[in-house]
Amino acid sequence: MLTKVLVANRGEIAVRIVRACHELGICAVAVYSEPDRSAPHVSGADEAYEIGPAPAADSYLNGERLLAVAAESGCDAIHPGYGFLAENPDFARACEEAGFAFVGPSAETIALMGDKTEARSVMERAGVPVVPGTFEPVADIAAVRAFCRKIGYPILLKAAAGGGGKGMRRVDSEDEIDSAWTAAGREAEASFGDPRLYVEKYLQRPRHIEIQILADAHGNVIQLGERECSIQRRHQKLIEESPSPLPSLMMSDGAGRGGRGGRGGLREKMGATAIAAARSAAYRGAGTVEFLVVDGAFYFLEMNTRLQVEHPVTEMVTGLDLVHAQLRIAAGEELASSLDAPTYSGHSIECRITAEDPLGDFLPATGVVDELRIPGGPGVRWDGGIARGNEISLHYDSLLGKLIVHAPDRDAAIARMARALDELVIDGVVHTGPLHRRIMDEPDFRAGELHTSYLEEHPQLFAPDEQDESWRAIAVAAALLQDRDRGQGQGQGRGRVRGNDEKPESGIDAWRRAVPRWPERGWGNRL
Ligand code: ADP
Repeated sequence: MLTKVLVANRGEIAVRIVRACHELGICAVAVYSEPDRSAPHVSGADEAYEIGPAPAADSYLNGERLLAVAAESGCDAIHPGYGFLAENPDFARACEEAGFAFVGPSAETIALMGDKTEARSVMERAGVPVVPGTFEPVADIAAVRAFCRKIGYPILLKAAAGGGGKGMRRVDSEDEIDSAWTAAGREAEASFGDPRLYVEKYLQRPRHIEIQILADAHGNVIQLGERECSIQRRHQKLIEESPSPLPSLMMSDGAGRGGRGGRGGLREKMGATAIAAARSAAYRGAGTVEFLVVDGAFYFLEMNTRLQVEHPVTEMVTGLDLVHAQLRIAAGEELASSLDAPTYSGHSIECRITAEDPLGDFLPATGVVDELRIPGGPGVRWDGGIARGNEISLHYDSLLGKLIVHAPDRDAAIARMARALDELVIDGVVHTGPLHRRIMDEPDFRAGELHTSYLEEHPQLFAPDEQDESWRAIAVAAALLQDRDRGQGQGQGRGRVRGNDEKPESGIDAWRRAVPRWPERGWGNRL
């Protein structure tokens, strides 16, 4: 087994990996940028090394520095987490060449799957259904136009090197091609240093359903069921769950959960296809094969060659620890044959709590966490990366933590998530918690009617809160009454500031003081 692992990441995923190392008796070495000195991933690790200033390019993306720390601290492996260098084939190769086990697939596999058109070609050859589109980057606008005439609108221009929903533009008609081509190319160049674009048919209101796979270095590949990730903003996931509530997947259950691999159903087909996809990419480690599902058909979208943010929902329903599995595979262990047919239990949902303003187009928010209350109780898990006093800046991903629940069935999981969100308090930075809380009450979500345009099609989720508004009305009325009373010489003393200041406090100020979490704008941090 490995003895010492460098955790080349920050935030919740670094905390997650440190915990897994400790459970396996492995020493965990953290790295941190200057402002992250007091972050939880640092305090939780056995050793920690500063690697540079705040900008990721000077710290978490500095491969040479990371390798130097791994050597200096005597590590035998490097876990990249997700993001940063996790899908950088050069870094994976450099780790192996320097004698460290890279916790992930080979550099060749990462490079192959990282180029989306190459990945589409590999999958097509392996008989995996792919979203209709080009298998090579398109040379110019004329080529896009010619291709669109063949497959019809709408289409999506996508970055060949894409990730994180960047470099993607929907095109509904020929006259939109020029501006979309320029915008997507520019964004792809800025995000990935690679402006190449390709074309996919734009699927209307698809569901995003992905399959978790594990592959060892001995040729064993297993799949651990699906995760539904259809609730997205800006093509990025916000809520994930397992199993998917898609009726045709449920139907393939046959006689209930025991039939989760039920023969001949959509679920079994997607699982088998994911295994075929992993084999065709000579996969090793934990990976995810992503599909878009529409009208009962599924299409390969991409393969992520790393641990996913949403991996916990799979862990909750299978009882397996995917980071343990990653570390064991990296150490050369073989997957147990019992994993060929994992047992599934209950339903799990994850809400990504990000520092973003749902009322402000999900723009990243900044601040200092000055209050943090983490939910608990049965079936509740918090994978977090923040502590009170931490500064949330624009240097890094906006994910503050993930709230995950597990319950016997979907309705119970939704009720549990609503309860846990009610308990969650993060003050000092605007976040997505209140939006998640509303979604838990929304009838279409509750009915499992999910698709990737769900948020755009439910604008009521972003409307002013009725209860909040009535509270506001009551508060204002009460304050006005108090002011009137004071004007009549009554109520003296009730509305005064404490201390020796004799200046009478206005009713509305007194009310604000009594309700310290009065939202500055929008919903504030809580409903
Ligand atoms: P990235 O690698 O940037 O995350 P993906 O290819 O994984 O991009 O797609 C992310 C999301 O974008 C999908 O979950 C889906 O919501 C949307 N999307 C991508 N391709 C299509 C498509 N062809 N049709 C409709 N939506 C798509």
